[in-house]
Amino acid sequence: MAYDKNNIFAKIIQREIPCDKVYEDDFSLAFRDISPKAKIHVLVIPKGMYTGFDDFTDNASDKEKVGFSTAVSKVIKQLNLSEKGCRLISNLGNDGGQEVPHYHVHILGGETLGALIGK
Ligand code: 5GP
Repeated sequence: MAYDKNNIFAKIIQREIPCDKVYEDDFSLAFRDISPKAKIHVLVIPKGMYTGFDDFTDNASDKEKVGFSTAVSKVIKQLNLSEKGCRLISNLGNDGGQEVPHYHVHILGGETLGALIGK
């Protein structure tokens, strides 16, 4: 899949669209999901142009990969989710239910979550 430079998260990175930011560093941006599926629902995205987990893993630099993983971990701590736990999800492609074609990790928490897959 080719990267679509006009996807909504690309516009958020470029500050063309606002977001409720919770964390930012050189490699990553985290912001609250516009349609939360749990009491806490934050999206963490790399600033680089990657379509999904596989593209990021295959093509991002080691610095970007370490930076992104570290950012996810920092956001979990910042949201005070370390002790009670949370769920990390990354949807990939059509069958995975990915709506926005820019790699992202969902952090869901703040309550006890239900089944992993709702059909
Ligand atoms: P996906 O289904 O691609 O894994 O998740 C995309 C997520 O992005 C959805 O949970 C959706 O609510 C969220 N989302 C879509 N558009 C926007 C937006 O403009 N701003 C924010 N903050 N979240 C968005």
